[in-house]
Amino acid sequence: MSRINVMQPWLGAEEIAAVTDVISSGWIAQGPRVAAFEEAFAASQQADHAVAVSSCTAALHLALLVAGVETGDDVVVPSFSFVATANAPTYIGARPVFADIDPLTGNVTGETIRSALTGRTSAVVAVDQGGVPVDLAEIRAVCDPLGIVVVEDAACAIGSTYRGQPVGADAEIAAWSFHPRKIVTTGEGGMITTSRPLWAARARRLREHSMSVSAAERHGSVLAPPEEYTEVGFNYRMTDLQAAVGLVQLQKLPELVERRRQLAEVYAKQLEDIPGLRPVADPPWGTSNFQSFWIEVSDPYPWDREGLLAHLASYDISARRGIMTSHRQPAHAKFAGGPLLASEQLSDSTLILPLFHQMSESEQARVIDALRSAAEESHG
Ligand SMILES: *Cc1c(COP(=O)(O)O)cnc(C)c1O
Repeated sequence: MSRINVMQPWLGAEEIAAVTDVISSGWIAQGPRVAAFEEAFAASQQADHAVAVSSCTAALHLALLVAGVETGDDVVVPSFSFVATANAPTYIGARPVFADIDPLTGNVTGETIRSALTGRTSAVVAVDQGGVPVDLAEIRAVCDPLGIVVVEDAACAIGSTYRGQPVGADAEIAAWSFHPRKIVTTGEGGMITTSRPLWAARARRLREHSMSVSAAERHGSVLAPPEEYTEVGFNYRMTDLQAAVGLVQLQKLPELVERRRQLAEVYAKQLEDIPGLRPVADPPWGTSNFQSFWIEVSDPYPWDREGLLAHLASYDISARRGIMTSHRQPAHAKFAGGPLLASEQLSDSTLILPLFHQMSESEQARVIDALRSAAEESHG
């Protein structure tokens, strides 16, 4: 019996060939492949502008900066998210203010955002948690009239749809991740998409030390033009090695999403008759890529989440605890405010089942059998 992991990237000969080409070309840092990846990404996500960066964490940081967030501002974020969502505002000296979530979707709503707004809120980060599209229009209906920018944290959500379009298509600005735990990977990497040309231009400079002339441009001329550093920037560049992998991965996206949704459908159907297990599902306004296929474990299922995790581990199945909450982490405890009951409840009672492109029918059957056998056992 071999280990079943929670996630495995889908990489092969084409990615290897693409990286080999980049190395042979002699230009491995940010250059023509990054530009091509940005163009392909913008087209596939129906975005006006795309700016590649080194991670989604970097993308969130720059998105908040170009959106005008300043030291002393409040930024409303879900606590129920990977910690990077709550970290980003603190890089600017802004305060993360935690909003609760809808326990069905795991996402913030117009209602939970509204009740977290303060007089100092300049931006909101709305996450498509685990790939489930957030109801962005509902949140923008609350924030737009107040001049509060909504940043979509679409780290998990490439290939998910919202109201018939790719997620992020309706966002003023969105941040994406290419970490191997996500759907499309470049090893590490991120992207900003935005409808605002000036925000894109500033993010493009900020990722590269705020140089007025890019390294690629300087290299392209024998006598490089003098550059100027217009503000304090960062080194958040993606490399051409990463972008070459991204270009191949992006072509696989439809196939990746189709397979994930097939596997999710099998899980959902097979779990229907196991009382006390609730799987994540598509919301009425869109479709998920099921980046994280989570189940909520509750009565009358005979085990709690920790017990079920241990049971799965005894079958060599590596499930994962559900999405974390930032307000209960030491790094963010000082920002904890009012109660976040749904966030804590979902975080404590969910686990993420293995789901990856190459997963075989027999591997999935093994996971389902383990869930069933645990249901039939009673507490020891
Ligand atoms: C993974 C993730 C991030 C961070 O992405 P990196 O590319 O690893 O920096 C941010 N937000 C959410 C919701 C994520 O799941």
